[in-house]
Amino acid sequence: MKYTIKDFNKQFKTDADCLEYIYRNKYPDGATCAQCGRKDQFYPLEGRRSYSCACGHHISPTVGTIFHKSPTSLKSWFTAIFLMMTSKNGVSAKELERHLGVTYKCAWRISHQIRQLLKEDRLTLQGTVEADETFIGGKRPGDQGKRDKTPIMGIVERGGNVVAKVVEDVSARTLLPVIVEKVLPQSTIYTDEWKPYRRLIHRDFKHDSVNHGKKEYVRALVHTNSIEGFWSQLKRSIHGTFHSVSREHLQKYVNEFSYRYNRRKSGKAMFLHALDGVGALHEPAV
Ligand SMILES: [Zn+2]
Repeated sequence: MKYTIKDFNKQFKTDADCLEYIYRNKYPDGATCAQCGRKDQFYPLEGRRSYSCACGHHISPTVGTIFHKSPTSLKSWFTAIFLMMTSKNGVSAKELERHLGVTYKCAWRISHQIRQLLKEDRLTLQGTVEADETFIGGKRPGDQGKRDKTPIMGIVERGGNVVAKVVEDVSARTLLPVIVEKVLPQSTIYTDEWKPYRRLIHRDFKHDSVNHGKKEYVRALVHTNSIEGFWSQLKRSIHGTFHSVSREHLQKYVNEFSYRYNRRKSGKAMFLHALDGVGALHEPAV
């Protein structure tokens, strides 16, 4: 389903429309009043980010959400979500600053808060999966401009979801626990010839590998093309849109692109997927 800027402007004309959406998302059956106990008797208070119960008790639907205490209008927030989710390669804070007419600092904060909607912690993979590690250029805090590479571990279920995690290094001690945590036992795991993966057969997995060093990329079903496809999209986006990402924040971008990848076959617009989480409670990101 397509969701265009026209659809967006029609559905979200005002801050009140956005607030109503957050309210409905946070309380699908209507909020229960803490003062009188009545259910779904709340109505919006004009010009404020709150609702009032028939008894006079006020609640604010944005409390604890990514919008909590933000002075930026909800319409701008929703516009930012729309822009970020509609653009395949993501949107930089600089672009958001221009589009929304807010400061860079504000745009940066908004984009990181929005990335909180795109976190998926509970995915598990099974069946035929591919595992691989890659390196993305980034700065470590305190490096004083010196670039170095940050390793990322990625696992993808063929035809299904990806899980990608920024890791300390690519040793067996680091990589294997990620696989054990995310992949169900008895799954078949395909990798390249990197040594740590040879230990997978001792962990209740079936394992086979192609030898990239010897230019072997595909041997019948054995290959890592799916995870490599994910890496190239991730790198294209990070290098093209964000130029460089510090190690500290890299996981958030990785989450954003994993989120997109995992919904690539969904018929629903990416923006509407992201809106499904607007009522959820989050810790402040930055
Ligand atoms: Zn009440």
